[in-house]
Amino acid sequence: MAVASPLLCRKNRALAAAARLRLQSQAVFGTLRRCFCGSSDFPEDILLMAVTITGFETFDIRFPTSQHLDGSDAMNPDPDYSAAYVVLKTSSEHLFGYGMTFTIGRGNELCVAAIRALAKLLVGQSVAGLMREPVTLYRRLTGDSQLRWVGPEKGVIHLAAAAVINAVWDLWSREQQKPVWQVVCEMSPEQFAACIDFRYLTDALTPGQAVELLQPFSRGREERIERLRSEGYPSYTTSAGWLGYSDEALRQKCTDLKARGWQHFKIKVGRDLQDDLRRCRVLREEMGEDACMMIDANQVWDVPQAIEWIRELAPFRPWFVEEPTSPDDILGHQAIARAIAPIRVATGEMCHNRVMFKQFMQSGGLQVCQLDCCRLGGVNEVLAVMLLAARFQIPVCPHAGGVGLCEYVQHASIIDYVCVTGTWEGRVTEYSDHLHEHVCDPVIMRHGRYMPPSAPGYSVQFTEAALHGYQFRSVE
Ligand SMILES: [Mg+2]
Repeated sequence: MAVASPLLCRKNRALAAAARLRLQSQAVFGTLRRCFCGSSDFPEDILLMAVTITGFETFDIRFPTSQHLDGSDAMNPDPDYSAAYVVLKTSSEHLFGYGMTFTIGRGNELCVAAIRALAKLLVGQSVAGLMREPVTLYRRLTGDSQLRWVGPEKGVIHLAAAAVINAVWDLWSREQQKPVWQVVCEMSPEQFAACIDFRYLTDALTPGQAVELLQPFSRGREERIERLRSEGYPSYTTSAGWLGYSDEALRQKCTDLKARGWQHFKIKVGRDLQDDLRRCRVLREEMGEDACMMIDANQVWDVPQAIEWIRELAPFRPWFVEEPTSPDDILGHQAIARAIAPIRVATGEMCHNRVMFKQFMQSGGLQVCQLDCCRLGGVNEVLAVMLLAARFQIPVCPHAGGVGLCEYVQHASIIDYVCVTGTWEGRVTEYSDHLHEHVCDPVIMRHGRYMPPSAPGYSVQFTEAALHGYQFRSVE
């Protein structure tokens, strides 16, 4: 029997590997073409490269916002807005994926450590393979048999999952040279539903019902996108009402924000009732009788105390009260909602997964859904919660502020308007003025409304100056 020389064996192995790679590239290309219904503006040359994730870098970024009491509220008196940030590296030297999760300072290092544990799972994976059916990405990062134990789908590990999942969506969108909202808005209802993990949801929403919900809004998307481009998406502002601000600062900021176009203002409450009565009066005087006021207690009250306190503030006609009690107390929220109607209960910035949201909605415990793009498991779970909200006819008013959150949520609200509900009536997305200068593609606000971003990706790439100037190094 003839024996092949080592050299010939190596050559044959190399030829076989090249053929395999070619076949994989063709398969990937074919799949993505199918996914995007043969869209002609798809950059085919990039697709053919079959981009693979080759590594990652993480950053602990902290801004000293506590120095001026920006972001202060009854539960969090001195936040330092922070980002646990990940940059995914790829087989293309021109293509990176940027993602982050938000914290308020100490503990950011825990999220960075969890991001490192999760991002390792993606090294060697092709982006197209992960996004062939986008739920694969979600399951890969939330379903690791050992890491799952330190969640599941909650806490530090889920905050980290958001950063990594969002980084892959960012990367995938950059590959297509589109913003994330546009990538989603070009999906069919079936492709949209294929992003979602329906496990634990089917008693409230099945994949078939999701497609049915989305179907009517697959028409007229172009017109809605045009309307967004000319008018922008409505927002409310938290920038005037931080608890640490003096009455004078509250007045001044409210006047400025009004002049810039805002008509919806939120104020922090819950530390001292007499203070709240005085501050709400100041805000109502400055914003005028026709503007919309919201109040936010950041979880400080017990249930009976919440009901009593909100009744005292009811004469100022708040549209909603946010986080009146523990974010986990679904039945407590239900009791408060029943007692304070028609004032609505809003919550969601610490509602950590789609299962919690499902129960809040089933129970009548919330009337305004404040989903958070860093708290939920990335774009995939945000889409799931938006569909649940549509199913229960609850408006989505995403939580923002902090750092990077406004940049993320603009995509969510655009998707909600274009693909899920077709309306922005009774919906306002949170906005606050801080820290936008540190990202490469900051939000663009016009007359108090979010203008749709046009840059590719998910809008949270930090500037080099921010990375150098605000990277946290422990002194221990
Ligand atoms: Mg809040």
